[in-house]
Amino acid sequence: MPRNSIFATMNPTILQTPIDYLKGVGPSRADLLRTELGIHTYQDLINLFPNRYIDKTQYYKINQLQRSAAEVQVIGTVVSLEMVGQKRGKRLVAKFIDDTGQLELVWFRGHKWVKENIKLHTPYVIFGKTNYYNGFSMPHPEMELVATHEKSLKIAMQPIYPSTEKLSNRGITNKAISKMMQQLFIDTQVRLYDTLSAEIRSELKLISKSEAMLNIHFPKNQELLAKAKFRLKFEELFYIQLQLITKKLSRKQKIKGYPFTLVGDYFTTFYNHHLPFALTNAQKRVIKEIRKDIGSSAQMNRLLQGDVGSGKTIVGFMSMLLALDNGFQACLMAPTAILANQHYQGILELTEGLDIQVELLMGSTKAKKRRSIHEALEDGSLHILIGTHALLEDKVKFHNLGLAIIDEQHRFGVAQRAKLWRKNKYPPHILVMTATPIPRTLAMSLYGDLDISVIDELPPGRKAIKTVHRYDSNRLKVFRFITDEIKKGRQIYIVYPLIKESEAMDYKDLMDGYESIARSFPPPDYQISIVHGQMKAADKDYEMERFVKGETQIMVATTVIEVGVNVPNASVMIIESAERFGLSQLHQLRGRVGRGAEQSFCILMTGHKLSSDSTTRLETMVRTNDGFDIAEVDLKLRGPGDIMGTQQSGVLNLKIADIVRDNDILQTARFYATKILNEDPTLQLEKNKVLLFTYQQLAKHKNIWNYIS
Ligand code: ADP
Ligand code: MG
Repeated sequence: MPRNSIFATMNPTILQTPIDYLKGVGPSRADLLRTELGIHTYQDLINLFPNRYIDKTQYYKINQLQRSAAEVQVIGTVVSLEMVGQKRGKRLVAKFIDDTGQLELVWFRGHKWVKENIKLHTPYVIFGKTNYYNGFSMPHPEMELVATHEKSLKIAMQPIYPSTEKLSNRGITNKAISKMMQQLFIDTQVRLYDTLSAEIRSELKLISKSEAMLNIHFPKNQELLAKAKFRLKFEELFYIQLQLITKKLSRKQKIKGYPFTLVGDYFTTFYNHHLPFALTNAQKRVIKEIRKDIGSSAQMNRLLQGDVGSGKTIVGFMSMLLALDNGFQACLMAPTAILANQHYQGILELTEGLDIQVELLMGSTKAKKRRSIHEALEDGSLHILIGTHALLEDKVKFHNLGLAIIDEQHRFGVAQRAKLWRKNKYPPHILVMTATPIPRTLAMSLYGDLDISVIDELPPGRKAIKTVHRYDSNRLKVFRFITDEIKKGRQIYIVYPLIKESEAMDYKDLMDGYESIARSFPPPDYQISIVHGQMKAADKDYEMERFVKGETQIMVATTVIEVGVNVPNASVMIIESAERFGLSQLHQLRGRVGRGAEQSFCILMTGHKLSSDSTTRLETMVRTNDGFDIAEVDLKLRGPGDIMGTQQSGVLNLKIADIVRDNDILQTARFYATKILNEDPTLQLEKNKVLLFTYQQLAKHKNIWNYIS
C-alpha cells in the first residue's frame, strides 16, 4: 500500500501520529489496519478514500424498488414476525409494509435480539440491500425508529470504505471506520494547509483542501462531494504531471548529449541509392523528429511507438547512420537471441554495398569472436553492434557510443537501460522502440518525461489481416484451411499458451498438439518446426532458421515467437486456447503474419466455455487490427495496473483519480502544469511558493518513479 501519496503533505506533526493513539483504536485494531489497509498513521487514515457512497437523502416506496439488487432506504411498519424453515434454513421473517406494498425482512442470525426489540406497527426507517425472488426481501436490514431517525444526525451520503474480509470479520466494519474518521477529525481538528496555489484554485473554482477532505469523508450533499472529488483528483494528477514535466525540462537542460549536426555520406548514400522501398509519411516524420532531437546538444530520450509491421527497424537504422555520419558508433539491443539475430541479418542486408562494419554479440558468441568484437569496438573500427543483454556486460566498451536503440522496451528493466548510459562521457542518445501501443492516456502519465514518436501508418500494399474465432470442435475445418494455404505455398504458425503457473500442463498441451498436427500433416509432403522455451538456444535457432528459409511449412511454438520475428511468407496465425492470452499478446502474435503481399489470417481457437472478459477480447481482435484501439480496450478491461510495465510505476498507485475515467482531469492537470512551468520553471514566483513546497515534500517521499534515468 503506498503511503507516500501526494496527500502526505499536510499538518505534518499531528498527522504523523501512529494510528494506535486514535481513540477507539487499540493495539490489535491498529495491527489489522496496518496489515490489511497499510494504515500506520493518522495521515494514512485520512487518505483512505471511500470507494463509493450511498445516498441517504433518498427514501423509496416499496413499489419503486428495482429488481436489480441495490441498497435502499424505506419507511414503513412491521406487521408480523415469525420463524420459518427447518434446521439450517431456519430464519426469522418480518412482513414490512408501506402504503404501496410489502416486503420481507429476513434474519438468519440474532433472532432472539430482533424478536425482543422490534416494535410492531411502529414506523421504522429500514436500510439494506434488496433481493427479488417471488417478491422483494431485505436480509439483515439496519433499522431505526422514525422518531429517533428524525432527531439523529443525518449523514446525507454514507461513505463506503475499502475493506477486506479479515477486517469485517474482526469487527472493523464500514461503520467502525466512519467512526474512526469522525474521531480523527475531532482529535486533529484537521486544518490542512492548501496544497494548491490561490491562482489555480480560483481559475478552476476549486474548493479548499480542508473542505475537500471533510466532504470526501462526510459529504454534505452530492454537489459538495463532486467538488471534493474533483479537487482531490486534480491535485493528485497535477503533481504527477508537474514532476514529469519538470524532469523532462531539466533533463533537456542538464543532460548534455553529442549534437549530431551532420547529415553525411552514410545517410545520403543510403537514402539515395540503397533504400529498399519508399518510406511512408509516418516514417519520414519520425526520422525528422529524431534528427531534430539528436541535432541539439541535449540527450535524446525518445519512445518510438508503432504497431507491429509499421516499419520501425528502418527508422532505427537510418538514425544509426546519422550517428555514423558524425563519427559515432551505434548499438541495437533486442530482448531475445532470435530477434537480435534477425535484426543483425536485416541490417547486414541494408548495409550491403556500404562501408559499414556490423557485428552480432550474444551470450552464445564464442570467446574468440567475442574478443575480436571487443577490440574492434574499442578501437572504433566497428560501427554498429547488435545484440542481446550481452551488450550490457562491463567488458563491452565502446570507442564512442552515440546512439543506443532498444527494441521492445518492456522486456528490459530500468536498471539495465541505465547501464547503457554509463558507457560514455556523455550518455548516448536513446531510442526505445516498442510495438506495444500504449494508450495516449497512459503514455502521458507513464512516459510524460519522454518524447514520443508514433508511426501510425502501415507500409502500402498491406492487406488487413482477417481474424476469426473458431471453436475447438471445428478443428477439422481449420486443418483443411491450413492444407489449402500450404498448397498455395504459404507457411503457418500454430501457437500454444505457456504460462508459468501451469507450465507442466501447457507443455503437455503443446506436445499433444504437435503430435496431432504431425499426424495430420505427415512427411514427406509436410515439414514441421517446433520451438519452445525448454529447448537449447541452438536447437531453437536451428528450427527457427528452417522455418525462415521455408524448409518447414508449419511452425508449432509457444509465445517465444511473440516478439518481432519476421517471416513474410507466413500468412496464417493460429492461436490455441486464445482465451488464455491477454489482448496485447494476441495482437503481438497476430502481427507475425500480414507481413507479405498475401492475404493473411489469424484464427483464434477456443473451447465453448468463455468468460465475459475473454469474449470481449476475442470480439475486439475480430473487430479491429488497430493496436491503439486494442490497447484502449485492454486498459478498460484490466485497468492500468496490469498493463505491461506499469506495475513498477508507482505513478499509477493513484489514491483517488482513475487514469482511464478521469482522462479529462488529467488533460487539465497537464495543461496547468505545463503552463505554470513555462512561466516559472523552478517555481520561484511568490504565487507558486506553495507548489514548490508541496513538490519538495513529495520529492522527499520519492513517490514519482524514475522511468528511464
Ligand atoms: P516493426 O515495426 O514491427 O519492427 P519492421 O521494421 O520489421 O516492423 O518492418 C516490417 C516489414 O515491413 C519489413 O519487412 C520491412 O522491410 C517492411 N517495410 C518497412 N517499411 C516499409 C515501407 N515504407 N514500404 C514497404 N515495406 C516496408
Ligand atoms: Mg520490430
